[in-house]
Amino acid sequence: MPDEGCLPPVLADPLPRRLSVGVDVGGVLVGGPAPVVVQSMTNTDTADVDGTVAQVAALARAGSEIVRITVDRDESAAAVPKVRERLDRLGVTVPLVGDFHYIGHKLLTDHPACAEALAKYRINPGNVGFKDKKDRQFVQIVETAIRYDKPVRIGVNWGSLDQDLLTRLMDENSRSPEPLSARAVMREAIIQSALMSAELAEETGLAREKIILSAKVSNVQDLIAVYRDLARRSNHSLHLGLTEAGMGTKGIVASSAAMGILLQEGIGDTIRVSLTPEPGGDRTREVQVAQELLQTMGFRQFVPVVAACPGCGRTTSTVFQELAETIQNDIRINMPVWREKYPGVEALSVAVMGCIVNGPGESKHADIGISLPGTGESPAAPVFVDGKKVATLRGPAIAADFQLMVADYIERRFGAGAPAAASSPAAAAE
Ligand code: SF4
Repeated sequence: MPDEGCLPPVLADPLPRRLSVGVDVGGVLVGGPAPVVVQSMTNTDTADVDGTVAQVAALARAGSEIVRITVDRDESAAAVPKVRERLDRLGVTVPLVGDFHYIGHKLLTDHPACAEALAKYRINPGNVGFKDKKDRQFVQIVETAIRYDKPVRIGVNWGSLDQDLLTRLMDENSRSPEPLSARAVMREAIIQSALMSAELAEETGLAREKIILSAKVSNVQDLIAVYRDLARRSNHSLHLGLTEAGMGTKGIVASSAAMGILLQEGIGDTIRVSLTPEPGGDRTREVQVAQELLQTMGFRQFVPVVAACPGCGRTTSTVFQELAETIQNDIRINMPVWREKYPGVEALSVAVMGCIVNGPGESKHADIGISLPGTGESPAAPVFVDGKKVATLRGPAIAADFQLMVADYIERRFGAGAPAAASSPAAAAE
């Protein structure tokens, strides 16, 4: 047993943020002193202007601070300025990023209005062109970025890794007296592809303040290793994301595990959670997950937190689950209005607990919390506000009364006016 007096104190904070060069993406700063930015990507055909505008607007309203759209052919490049114009008319100012593969150099040259309307160009160095065309076409995109004063993201993806580079590194490795594993060589190829492309962009004349790097793989441990190494070897602003994360809980857990560890180490300036939506599923889920990841780790506050216990054999009723869900949904629906009406409301914490075991304690820690009666407890639900018990709710309207109390608390604490506390059901119920 070590002498506990000698142990260093355990910190409850992330490591200091890695110092990166900030990049202005259409008015949103990525890196430097800026908080970690949430971004997302549409899955509409960009040539479908109506569909793309609707989805970009939905992603922006959900909280996406940058939205990427596919620009894969002439029709989509021609649609980009129309999408931008329509969004501006709707008051949706979110910067648009163009995702280019194979013919980005040509599309950006042939469609100057597209080049102008986009706030950033994403270039994948693995498929910008092959053999002697590779550098030439890459440089052509970079020169367009310089001409229009736009930043780029050099986005390496292991699924489209530069095969010439990978083959060369594999050959060198096989001749080494102490060869690395094929996985380690693949990671090195990803990092080198990003760094060499950034070097070429800078040699072409693009400032480092205009370059963001990403290096995505689909395996959690590889992603962590790649970004740790990339962060060590450059000071470029970094876009984090696990590629092909997958559907539902698998995608959420994998992305959160990988990015959570990197963010804790101070690595990452913007994140995207690449979830495969269920057929007909809501694309904004990826924004919600990204926000919750940043909020739950204490990096940013986007929406009030609702703490709810998981429930167990001590509470067989579903009242507390329904109430927690209702409160959570209420918050999500109302947030666009609340953000304007109640500045700072995102700092609110609400607790909805299932029984007396942890209910009162957890509720006291929240700004406002309710401890519902568990099995065998008297049918009364104490409500705590700012750590003090202020009411005991009873009867079939407990859920509705508590909702009113939450609304009243928000108005009193964050609203411009200050309605009398006596209007709260708390006073009536106590
Ligand atoms: S607070 Fe009560 S109902 Fe909720 S998990 Fe704990 S013991 Fe179970």
